[in-house]
Amino acid sequence: MSSTDTSGSTGPDPVNIVIAGGGTAGWMTAAALGHFLDRGFTVTLVESEEIGTVGVGEATIPQIRMFNQALGIDEDAFIRATQATFKLAIEFVGWGQPGERYMHAFGDVGRDVGLCAFHHYWSRGRRLGLAGPHGDYAINDIAAHAGRMHRGAPLTSRNVPEMPHAFHFDAGLYAAFLRQFAEARGVTRREGRIAEVRQDPLTGDISSLVLASGEAITGDLFIDCTGFRGLLIGGAMGSAYVDWTHWLPCDRALAVPSGRVEDFTPYTRATAHAAGWQWRIPLQHRTGNGRVYCSAFTSDEEAAESLLAHLDAPALADPRPIRFTTGRRAEAWRGNVIAVGLASGFLEPLESTSIHLIQTAISRILKLLPGKDQTQAARDEYNRQFTFEMERIRDFIVLHYHVNQRPEPFWQAMREMTLPDTLKDRIALFRANGHIVRHGDELFGEVGWFQVMAGQGIVPERSHALAETIDEADLKSYLETLNGLYAREVARYPAHADFIARHCAAPPLGGAA
Ligand SMILES: Cc1cc2nc3c(=O)[nH]c(=O)nc-3n(C[C@H](O)[C@H](O)[C@H](O)COP(=O)(O)OP(=O)(O)OC[C@H]3O[C@@H](n4cnc5c(N)ncnc54)[C@H](O)[C@@H]3O)c2cc1C
Repeated sequence: MSSTDTSGSTGPDPVNIVIAGGGTAGWMTAAALGHFLDRGFTVTLVESEEIGTVGVGEATIPQIRMFNQALGIDEDAFIRATQATFKLAIEFVGWGQPGERYMHAFGDVGRDVGLCAFHHYWSRGRRLGLAGPHGDYAINDIAAHAGRMHRGAPLTSRNVPEMPHAFHFDAGLYAAFLRQFAEARGVTRREGRIAEVRQDPLTGDISSLVLASGEAITGDLFIDCTGFRGLLIGGAMGSAYVDWTHWLPCDRALAVPSGRVEDFTPYTRATAHAAGWQWRIPLQHRTGNGRVYCSAFTSDEEAAESLLAHLDAPALADPRPIRFTTGRRAEAWRGNVIAVGLASGFLEPLESTSIHLIQTAISRILKLLPGKDQTQAARDEYNRQFTFEMERIRDFIVLHYHVNQRPEPFWQAMREMTLPDTLKDRIALFRANGHIVRHGDELFGEVGWFQVMAGQGIVPERSHALAETIDEADLKSYLETLNGLYAREVARYPAHADFIARHCAAPPLGGAA
C-alpha cells in the first residue's frame, strides 16, 4: 500500500485513513487495511505508549483463522510469535449449578439424520436413558477433555469430521506481531497522546487529531480504536452508549497471569463463582486468569481474594483492575468516524467474541469501503449489521447467566431478570419442542445454542416428530457408533503440549528465535 505514484502521473488525492489507537482493534484494522488497500489510500495509526492498552483479550474463536488466511499469515509463525496454544472449546464449570460442567465445543455435535438435527435424536436418547452427555458426540469435546490436538483430515475414517480450532494468545505479543505486519505494508505509526480532536464547523466531521506534541494528523476517514474511552465516536461525535447492564450487570474484572502448569488444556475454562466467573487461558509461557464480577454483589477485595485462591499456579503479578459497562454505541459509524473494538461497545468475554467483532467490523469497512464521500445509506447499513450482530451475541451470553439453579443472590437475580424478547422466544421454543432457529447470519448457529441450552439444563418437553419414529435399538446403536468412531480417532492424536512442541513451540521470551 502506498500513496506514492512512481509513474509521474497525477491521480486523484489519496483517501487518508487515520486509525486512533493501537490495541488489538487498531493493529488488526491497520494490518487488514495495509494488506487490502493499494494505491489511492494512506493509512496512519496513532497510539500512546503512555496510555497503553487494555492488555486482555487472549481467547478467540475459529473464525480468526479466516482473518489470518486472508492476510496470508502463516499459522505456525503466528503461534510462535504470540506464545499461543490451541483452543477446541470453552468449558463451563458450575454455570447450571455448582458441581456441573459442560463444554461449548467448536464444530458439530453428532451428525444430522436427513432433515432432522442430531440434537433431536440426542434428546430422545437422553429421555430413554440411551445417550450420554452431548459432549460424547462432539469430536472437539472428546479431544479437549483428553488434552489432545490434531489439525487437518481425520486419521481413521472419512466419517469423522475435522476439528475446527482457535487460539489462546498473548494480547501484547499479538499487537506487536500485527504492528510489524502492518508497517511492512505501508502503514505509518505515530506515537503520541491525542490531546485535541478538531472538527469541521459546518459538517461536524473530524478534520484532524492533534497530538500533545502539537502535531496535527489530518484525515478523510477516522477509525476509532481508542478502547473504552471512545474518544472520537463518543467524545467528539456524541454517539450515545446503549447500556445493557440490566441484562449483563457484571461491571468489573481483575486480570492476573500465573505460571505455566502441566495441565496444558486445549480449551478455555470459565468457572462460575458467587458473583461472577473466572477465566483460565493457558498460553505457552504462562496462564492468563481473570475474574469478571458484579460490584453490586461483591467487593473488589473479595473478588481479588477469591481470584487468587482459585489459581492453579502462583500469580506472576498483582491483579489488574478493569471497569466496564456492557452495551454498544447507538451508531458505530457516525459522520466520518467508525468505531472498532471496545470503542464500539462491550460484551463480556464469556464466549470470546470481542476479537471476532473486530474482525467483522473490518470486513464491513472493507465491503462498504468509504472514500472521501461517505453516504448516509452506507452508514445506516453498517449500523444495522453492527446492531444485529451485537444483540444476538448479547442474547447468547445472557442465556448462560439466566438459566441457572445456583443458590447465591447474584444468580437468583439473573434468574429473575426480564429477558430480551428475542431470547425469551428462543428459550420457549427449545423448551417446548427442542427447535432452534438461527436468525439471519448471526454468529452462533444451532449447534452452539444447543450446547449451551442443554448444558445449562434446559430439557425439551418433546423431540422432533421424525426423531420419535426411530427404533430404540437403532437409536442406541447410532449413538454408540458415533461415540466409538470419535473416541478411536482422538486416541490417535498427540497430547496438546507434544503437538505444539512438534509444530510451533515459541522460543523463550527474550530468547533467540
Ligand atoms: C476483562 C476483559 C477480558 C477480555 N477477554 C477477551 C477474550 O478472551 N477474547 C476476546 O476476543 N476479547 C476479550 N476482551 C476484549 C478484548 O480485550 C478487546 O476487544 C481487544 O483487546 C481490543 O481492545 P481495543 O484495541 O479496542 O482497546 P485497547 O486495547 O484499550 O486499545 C486502545 C488504544 O487506544 C489508545 N488510546 C486511547 N486514548 C488515546 C489517546 N488519547 N491518544 C492516543 N492513543 C490513545 C491506547 O493507547 C491503545 O493503544 C476482553 C476484554 C476485557 C475487558
